[in-house]
Amino acid sequence: MTLTSVDLGEININVPVYDIAGNRPGKTLLVTGGMDGDEYAGMEACYRVVGRIKSKDIAGRLIVIPIVNTPGFWEEKSFNPIDQKFPKFAGVGKADGTPTQRLVAWLVESYAKHADFWLDLHGGSLTEVMSPFLWAWETGVRTIDTDVRAFIVNNAPRFGIFEWQRFPVGKAAALARMGCRYIVGEAGSSGPRREEDIRHHEAWIEAAMRLEGLIAQKKTSGRTPSILYEKVEFVRCKMPGLWFPADTTIRAVKNGELLGVVRSLNGKKSTAIVAKNVGQLLWIKSGLRALPTDDLVAIAHSPEEGNVYATT
Ligand SMILES: [Zn+2]
Repeated sequence: MTLTSVDLGEININVPVYDIAGNRPGKTLLVTGGMDGDEYAGMEACYRVVGRIKSKDIAGRLIVIPIVNTPGFWEEKSFNPIDQKFPKFAGVGKADGTPTQRLVAWLVESYAKHADFWLDLHGGSLTEVMSPFLWAWETGVRTIDTDVRAFIVNNAPRFGIFEWQRFPVGKAAALARMGCRYIVGEAGSSGPRREEDIRHHEAWIEAAMRLEGLIAQKKTSGRTPSILYEKVEFVRCKMPGLWFPADTTIRAVKNGELLGVVRSLNGKKSTAIVAKNVGQLLWIKSGLRALPTDDLVAIAHSPEEGNVYATT
């Protein structure tokens, strides 16, 4: 392991990098945890995997960065406190940009660009309840889209999302043009890193290693394919206030179902938050604060399934 010094322009930070070369040639897998600095189950899974993988166990190259956003980690924040920006929203970064853009540019230039597959591990933040799932985006590169879709169907616990895009843009498409498949794994809720969530992340790392041939393929076990959704709806409230979820159980929801209520601090106003789609809840904010920028609920859905948009 090396603690790598990364130049963010106004400051240098240290990021842990495990770069394991196999004892025979093969493909390159990049695994990252802690793009969001307060999502712990994926970080712990990364440390477990590098603790047991030796050079002789793999073909190719395994790069594991358990905590990318170390400034966020030290402050227990999702974002990077140096510029208050989220590395996950910085695309493929910018070498002469803001500190967060520089951090992501370093990651992409040094590692993702040379990788065949980037598995980016996330989870619920300190105030989110979540059910585990895999998430990826259509890129327009057919061979990559086929691989990524199959990976989700075969490895998501119950459901996953392969976001359909009419004109594929953004990070996944940019990475695909570099030859890199990009998948986000989401498991872990509200701070405590439960064993079952860490295990989901470990299983996804192992599956990615098998897919890319770092370790041998396993016989398929005839597992039921996961449900694949095509879109994600982020439910927010324009009025800042107190958030009272109707239920924090991760569940399927109906169009028009009450998700919760936001009340103003003086209790005089309240807004009902209602599902606009038939779909699957991904995560629910459990914290009391509701800001207009907070995702109170995220719902996965497939537009062709006859969803009707309701008014809130
Ligand atoms: Zn995250």
